[in-house]
Amino acid sequence: MAKQQQVVIVGGGVIGLLTAYNLASEGQTVTLLERGGLGQEASWAGGGIVSPLYPWRYSQAVTALAHWSQDFYPQLAQRLFAATGVDPEVHTTGLYWLDLDDEAQALAWAVREVRPLSKVDVSAAHDAVPVLGGGYSQAIYMANVANIRNPRLVKSLKAALLALPNVTIREQCDVSGFVLGGGRVVGVNTATGHVLGDHVVLAAGAWSGQLLGTLGLGLPVEPVKGQMILYKCASDFLSSMVLAKGRYAIPRRDGHILIGSTLEHEGFDKTPTDTALESLKASAQELIPALADAEVVGHWAGLRPGSPEGIPFIGEVPGFRGLWLNCGHYRNGLVLAPASCQLFTDLLLARAPIIDPVPYAPAGRLNAG
Ligand SMILES: Cc1cc2nc3c(=O)[nH]c(=O)nc-3n(C[C@H](O)[C@H](O)[C@H](O)COP(=O)(O)OP(=O)(O)OC[C@H]3O[C@@H](n4cnc5c(N)ncnc54)[C@H](O)[C@@H]3O)c2cc1C
Repeated sequence: MAKQQQVVIVGGGVIGLLTAYNLASEGQTVTLLERGGLGQEASWAGGGIVSPLYPWRYSQAVTALAHWSQDFYPQLAQRLFAATGVDPEVHTTGLYWLDLDDEAQALAWAVREVRPLSKVDVSAAHDAVPVLGGGYSQAIYMANVANIRNPRLVKSLKAALLALPNVTIREQCDVSGFVLGGGRVVGVNTATGHVLGDHVVLAAGAWSGQLLGTLGLGLPVEPVKGQMILYKCASDFLSSMVLAKGRYAIPRRDGHILIGSTLEHEGFDKTPTDTALESLKASAQELIPALADAEVVGHWAGLRPGSPEGIPFIGEVPGFRGLWLNCGHYRNGLVLAPASCQLFTDLLLARAPIIDPVPYAPAGRLNAG
C-alpha cells in the first residue's frame, strides 16, 4: 500500500469520481469537492459510447487510452455493481457507420490497431438492424463496441465512494481558487474556508480552464455544448448503435434510445433549444424512420471539456508542485475515464504507468494566462 496522503479533488464528474475511487482504493485519504451535485454535468449528459465516434480520426494518444479503457470497462462495471447494487450497464451492441467518406482510412486503422471493424453489405446492415432507414450505400461494422449507461455509472461511483471510510464528499461546494504555501499548492479556497491537502487535483471538466486561470495559467479547455434527445421503445427495438452524418442512435438495455448530438460553441450556456430539438428529431427519423411515431421523452444539453485534438491533460502542473490535472477529455471522457484515472493514479503514487504519460503531460501545453 502506498504512503497515505491527503488528496483534494475538485470536480465530481466521472473523472473526479473515478480518480477518487482509485486513490481511495489505494489507501489515500480523499476529499472530493463538487459545486453542484455529483455527476450532474457532462458525465450525466453524455451518450456513453465506449469508443470515440470516429476512432481512426484521433491521435495515438487518444487511441491508447481508449483501448485500455474498452478492455477494462466490463470488470469496472462488475466491481461497481457488486459493491453498490447499481449496475452501470455495459451494453455491447456493436456499431454500424453508414456512408462514411473516410471508410478506407477507417479500415486501414482497424488493420493497424487489430480492431474487429470490417466492411459489410448495406443489406447485411438492414438484416441486422431492420429499423434502419433506407438510402444508405455503404456500411462498416465494429462488433465489440459497447455503451455504458453513464447516469448509472456516476450513481454507482457515488455509492461506492460513500461506502469508503477514507473518502469525504462535499456537494454544493464551489472551489474559487488555490491556496499556495511553501512554494507549492497546498489546498483550495471555498466559501466556507480552505480545504488543505498534500495534493490538489483539478478535474472540473469544462470549467477547469477558468480555475487554472486564477493562477495566471492558460489551460486550453473550452466548453463545447452538446444536445441530445431520448426516446423510449420496446427493449428489442434497436439491436446495434448506428451512426450516419455525425448523428448516432444508442440503445440502452431497456429500450431507451438516445440520439445525439450537436456541437455548439455557446460559452457556458447549456439551455436546450428548439432548433436542436428539430434537427435531432430529423436525424433520428432519417436514421430510424419508425421513430417518427415515437415520443421524445427527454431533451438536454451538456458541456464537453473541449481540448486541442481532444487529448486530455493528465499530470502535475509545472511550476506548481502539488497541483495536478485530470481534465480536457472533450467528446470522449466516458470512454477514456478508466485509463485516464488509472494513469493519473499511477503518476500521483509514482508507480510504473499503464501507458506512456508523455502525450498527456501539462508541461509545454499550457499558455501564459
Ligand atoms: C451530448 C454529449 C454526448 C457525449 N457523448 C459521449 C460518448 O458517447 N462517449 C464518451 O466517451 N463521452 C461522451 N461525451 C463526453 C463526456 O461526457 C465528457 O468528456 C466527460 O463527461 C467529462 O467528464 P468530467 O468529469 O471531466 O466533466 P463533468 O462531468 O462536466 O464534471 C466536472 C464537474 O466539475 C464540477 N465543477 C466545475 N467547476 C467547479 C468548481 N469551481 N468547484 C467545484 N466543482 C466544480 C462541475 O459541477 C462538474 O460536476 C459526451 C458529452 C456530451 C455533452
